Amino acid sequence: MIDLADQVKSLVTIQEVAEHYGFHPNRAGYICCPFHHEKTASLKLYSGQRGFHCFGCGAGGSVIDFVMKVFDIPFRQAILRINADFALGLTWDKPDPAVRSAVLEARRREARRKAKLEQLEEKHRELAAEHCYWWEVLKYFSPTREEWEAGYIHPLYVEATKKQPYLEYLLDELEEEIAEVKADRGRKGSTAGKHSTGSPGQTA
Ligand SMILES: [Zn+2]
Repeated sequence: MIDLADQVKSLVTIQEVAEHYGFHPNRAGYICCPFHHEKTASLKLYSGQRGFHCFGCGAGGSVIDFVMKVFDIPFRQAILRINADFALGLTWDKPDPAVRSAVLEARRREARRKAKLEQLEEKHRELAAEHCYWWEVLKYFSPTREEWEAGYIHPLYVEATKKQPYLEYLLDELEEEIAEVKADRGRKGSTAGKHSTGSPGQTA
C-alpha cells in the first residue's frame, strides 16, 4: 500500500495531475485553490515530488492528497484513480518491475516529447516574429517606379527579398517538424486506447 503510494508519487507530477483534472497553472506555477474561495491563484504546484501548498488556506500535500481533496475520496481510492487515469499499470499486490520500467520509460519519452515541442514552438514564435519584421521592411522600403528607374533600391529592401523566402522555408520546415512531434502523441494516444479523444478523421 505504502509502496504503491510511493510509486504513484514517483510516476506522476502534481502539474500533470492538476492539468489532467482541469487546473491550469499560471507561468509561476500557481492555480486558483479549489479548497478555498479565491480570485487570485495562491496554490503553488511544486516540481518533482514536492506536491502542492496553498498560501491562502494552508492546504498541501502530495499528488495523492490533491486527488483525495479534489474528489473527496479516501487515500486508497485516490491511488486507484490516479493509477487508472494515468494508465500507470500498477498492481495492488506485487509491483511488477517490468511494468514499472515500461511505464517510467513511456513517461520519460512523453516528457522529452513535450520539451521538444515547447522548444520547437518557441523557435517558431521567434522565426514568425522575424518573418513579420522583414515583411514590414519589404513593404516599407519597396522602391517606387522612379526609384527603380533611377536604380535606387534601399539595401534593407534587398536584404528583405532574400530573408523573406528563406524564413518562409524555415517556418515550413519547422511546422512540419512540429506536426510530426504532435502526431507522435496521437499515435501513442490511440494505442493506449481508453484515453483517446477521437482520431482527427484520418482514414487508414
Ligand atoms: Zn487554498
